[in-house]
Amino acid sequence: MGQMMSQPLLVSSIIEHADRHFGDKEIVSRRVEGDIHRYTYRDCHQRARRMANALATLGVKMGDRVATLAWNGYRHMELYYAISGSGAVLHTMNPRLHADQIAYMVDHAEDSYVFFDLTFLGLIETLAASCKSVKGFIAMADRGSMPASFRIPNLMCYEDLIESSSDRYAWPAFDENSASTLCYTSGTTGNPKGVLYSHRSTLLHAYASCLPDALNVSGREVLMPVVPMFHVNAWGFPYSAALTGAKLVLPGPMLDGSSLHDLIVREDVTVSAGVPTVWLGLLNHVERNALEFGKLRRIIIGGSACPPAMMKTFRDKYGVELLHTWGMTEMSPLGTVCTLQSQHLRLTQAEQDQVLEKQGHAIFGVDMKIVDDEGAELPWDGKSCGHLLVRGPWVVRNYFKAEGSSALQDGWFPTGDVATISPEGYMQITDRSKDVIKSGGEWIGSIELENVAMAHPAVQQAACIGVFHPKWDERPLLVVVKKADAALTRDELINSYQGKVAKWWTPDDVVFVDALPVGATGKILKNEIRNQLRHHKLPTA
Ligand code: AMP
Repeated sequence: MGQMMSQPLLVSSIIEHADRHFGDKEIVSRRVEGDIHRYTYRDCHQRARRMANALATLGVKMGDRVATLAWNGYRHMELYYAISGSGAVLHTMNPRLHADQIAYMVDHAEDSYVFFDLTFLGLIETLAASCKSVKGFIAMADRGSMPASFRIPNLMCYEDLIESSSDRYAWPAFDENSASTLCYTSGTTGNPKGVLYSHRSTLLHAYASCLPDALNVSGREVLMPVVPMFHVNAWGFPYSAALTGAKLVLPGPMLDGSSLHDLIVREDVTVSAGVPTVWLGLLNHVERNALEFGKLRRIIIGGSACPPAMMKTFRDKYGVELLHTWGMTEMSPLGTVCTLQSQHLRLTQAEQDQVLEKQGHAIFGVDMKIVDDEGAELPWDGKSCGHLLVRGPWVVRNYFKAEGSSALQDGWFPTGDVATISPEGYMQITDRSKDVIKSGGEWIGSIELENVAMAHPAVQQAACIGVFHPKWDERPLLVVVKKADAALTRDELINSYQGKVAKWWTPDDVVFVDALPVGATGKILKNEIRNQLRHHKLPTA
């Protein structure tokens, strides 16, 4: 056996490190009240210790679940460390889910306390009576902003708890495999499923995500995670920023183009991260008002496929690089990142762009493979398309409270995505397996068809679904939101596919709509579009 120290990898060690080494670095937050709050990692650590004492006074013990319904902000950051650091389990809930699903999660997780931003007061009032396991609700506010609600039993004030608690607290040491955080999948079908991260998985993921060819987080960056702290731990940024000493900018509840742009410029943000719909909104705002992006150099994009046309606009017009990443709740979330390798540097820009459109290579720690319907492994030839499976120390083994069953197939986690992998190891998602269009027994990837539509200058957003066809079973139907005041006809858009995809992949029809339905994590809801258009009759049918 090796003879090195076996110090457990614990979440609390990150904030201790940040305090000691980057204590004066700032955490800037837009508060629910609308104003800007600023303090340092040292302040954050001190208040997290106070909150850890408060939790102990409330009777929270090792392994107890404590929930949050909150935006990206400094108090949420304190809870990330206070709850997990003290040995309890931070359960971040997505407030955009249906109230019934939130009630289900509180009940399933057996949450002992719920912390909430005042934005969600109404939601808590509705839910409180049905939350049987919950001993108290804590409004993340100061005394002056406390609501007078009689419908919430045992309502407490966050700042009162902080003020009445000592900052003398020694973070406990325990097994690094203990649970640190609980996040439920967004549950577009059926009830959400809980993914229970451990301290070890969280720390390994944080280390790996900082690598230069991963998210490249460093103490020279000003980092603004737009991806919510209630969705897969904001892709780990509350940990990786503290681990490296990056200045952190937390945008709170205001995620519109104008508010984000204001923060980017005002706080000299250099890197930001979020789903494509956020960046479409920001780009629109910047284009419409002839603005610039200040010091912003890099946007990390994931959650849905990044349209290549948007990547080009950001880079060519504004000098902002879009970094394409892929992952999922079950993967903490990071799986692949698309960066160029040395052999790509001599390629032309167009050839490099073809590489950068993909979801990328696995970061060290994640192993992946593609298989056919029978589970036989497919070659990495960039053409063979199969079900994507992954494994690694920050990949789920089993869902929370699903004892007796396994989330794995022969030790691998089936992602539900369909992908190709190039000989160089670059993975490209062609579809979610539920969204693949099956035409005459062959698969058509909807993402590629959407990317072609998105490259048309008159298209704001596009989704492609399969609809019934009497001869081919399914054929592609394009659903499009046009840019404001843009003129575009069905035939014009269909003709734009010529030479860009195989002829039989060309969509059979186009439906123009005012907006596409978006789910709790900012992704386009194809289920809902399919439902709405299930009776659509194709002209080719
Ligand atoms: P979630 O667990 O809500 O984060 O969703 C994970 C799913 O989002 C993945 O299984 C993919 O289907 C999808 N996804 C994430 N990143 C990408 C990406 N870069 N391109 C395409 N799909 C993505």
